[in-house]
Formats: sequence, C-alpha cells, structure tokens
Amino acid sequence: MTEAIRILPTTDAAIDEAAALLRAGRLVAFPTETVYGLGGDATDDRAVAAIFAAKGRPSFNPLISHIPDVARARELALFTPLAEKLAAAFWPGPLTMVLKRQPDCPVSHLACAGLETIALRVPAHPVAKRLLEATGRPVVAPSANPSGRVSPTTAKHVAEGLAGRLALVLDGGPCAIGLESTVVDATGERAVLLRPGGVTLEALEQVAGPVITSESDPDAPTSPGQLASHYAPALPVRLNATDVKPGEALLAFGPALPGAAVTLNLSETGNLEEAAANLFALLRALDRPGLAGIAVMRVPEAGLGLAINDRLRRAAAPR
Ligand code: AMP
Ligand code: MG
Repeated sequence: MTEAIRILPTTDAAIDEAAALLRAGRLVAFPTETVYGLGGDATDDRAVAAIFAAKGRPSFNPLISHIPDVARARELALFTPLAEKLAAAFWPGPLTMVLKRQPDCPVSHLACAGLETIALRVPAHPVAKRLLEATGRPVVAPSANPSGRVSPTTAKHVAEGLAGRLALVLDGGPCAIGLESTVVDATGERAVLLRPGGVTLEALEQVAGPVITSESDPDAPTSPGQLASHYAPALPVRLNATDVKPGEALLAFGPALPGAAVTLNLSETGNLEEAAANLFALLRALDRPGLAGIAVMRVPEAGLGLAINDRLRRAAAPR
C-alpha cells in the first residue's frame, strides 16, 4: 500500500499554507535550485528532531539553516570579511557558509549538532525565497530523502522516499542544478572547502583566493556530515567503467559504451551542468530490480565534475 502524501503546485495560497505549517512545527518539502529540501522551523527543537527522525539521519550530522537574505543571515552568525565577500558574490545561490553563531542565535542547538558554528544558505529558487519570507524564521532543510539514499530533484522523488512523514510537498518542477550546495567554512581568513557542490572550486577561488581543500591540506577540517557511503542506490555502483558487464545498466557521460541492459546518459555532449542536473534522477531511474549493477562512465574532475564525482564515489562506497 502506498501512503498518502499531499503535493501542491506552488501557488501563493500553497506557499502561505506551507509557511503556516512550518510555523506550527510541521515538516514541508520544497524546491530549491539544488535539490528538494525537507523543511522545518530551525528555532523549534521538536521540528528539528522530527526531521532527523523522518530521514533516519544520524543526529551528529548538523543541518543547514536557510534564510531569505544576507541581513537575516547576519542576525544569526558572525560575518567575517571573507563571509561578506562570499555572500556578495554567491548569494542567493548554491553556497553554504559555516560561521560562528551569534551569542543570541535562536537556531536550535540540535540543528547545529551542539557546535558553536552554524551553516547558512540563501537559496535562489523563487519558491524557496517566498516560503522563507512568509515563514519569517530560519528553516532547516536537508535533502528530502531517507538518509544515505539518492537525493530528490522532483516532488515525485520526495513522495517515493518520505510519504507519510511530512505534511506537504510544494511541487516546483525539477531542480535546475541538481546537486547540493557547496559548503565552505568562512570563519577564518581563508575559505575551507567542506563539501564540493553547485558552486565550483574555480569560481570560489576567483572571489576568495586559494581555498583550503582536503587535497591541499590533509589536516583541513572536514564536515561532520561527509559520510563515506551516501547517495546510495540499492544496486551496486561501479565507477570509471570502460566496458559493460553482463546484466549491468550504464550511466553514460558523452558517447555511450555498447552492450548495456539499459543505458541513460548524463550528457551526450559531455556538458557538466547538464550532467549535474540529471545525476540523481538517472541514478534512481537505473536502480531497478533484476539488474546486476550500475556501471558509470568517467566524469572529468573539473568544474562541477568535482561535486558529481564526490556524489558518485559515495554512491559506490562499501555500505
Ligand atoms: P545536507 O543538509 O544533507 O545538505 O548536509 C549539510 C552539510 O553541511 C553536511 O555535510 C554537514 O556536515 C554540513 N554542516 C552543517 N553545519 C555544519 C557546521 N556547523 N560545521 C561544519 N559542517 C556543517
Ligand atoms: Mg542529503
């Protein structure tokens, strides 16, 4: 039996209803330019706890608080000169900054996993912006999927994973970027990349100068949420495939290898933006019973390829 789920198109009335539900401590999924988020009132410990429960998410893994503009962000966190620069360049958009909490920051400590820092993002999606404005409170919104599974880029994906565990889904169509935000620690003078995502390393460095990464500095701080196995389909995933084994599905990039039971292409022309937008939907579509596994062709390690490969490596990691 499939559980009931309410999905509404993004009319003003639906957004107002979603905002009222959030203020009442309920959970609402909504579109952002990255993926669909499972939203809850960031200042309400019980709503935050309900998000961890709905996702089955390990509670040490802190959540991102979303606000409609940089002024609201400054009320929650201490802005360094680096943070001001990054906000001016990339907000609204797919950049999350980790900053020190203001002493009177009202966001639940559970949302920050007890850390003195808070992760903040101003999303660019017009529905997300209107919802955040109507709610009038910061909203935590991890990806709207059971923890560890493939992230949702459509309202239907949300329904497949979380039906029965939330009050409402706002259906704003497929997500334009399709990958989570880039997470940067901006508490110091130099930016530290905690998670690759929708803003490329190259774009960050143009604004902020050399960025510290786990590659440039093995001792660089890492994000508590960077679990080895994540984004995992049910089928085994094999990376950098140069051939297709019997019974395998193929996730192609560029001209496809022959011989697959079923082939879907991230981008026939090898376009990384198109590949990012397609990644999670195609992983889901290939994850069918009866197949031996998913072979994935090599994606170049540049631009959005960094974030795509980060997700693919974790989809393929031992579970
Ligand atoms: P998600 O909500 O699933 O997109 O993941 C949020 C990401 O932000 C995870 O990788 C978290 O570990 C990271 N994050 C959130 N808050 C903090 C924080 N205070 N310090 C470091 N990383 C954080
Ligand atoms: Mg997620």
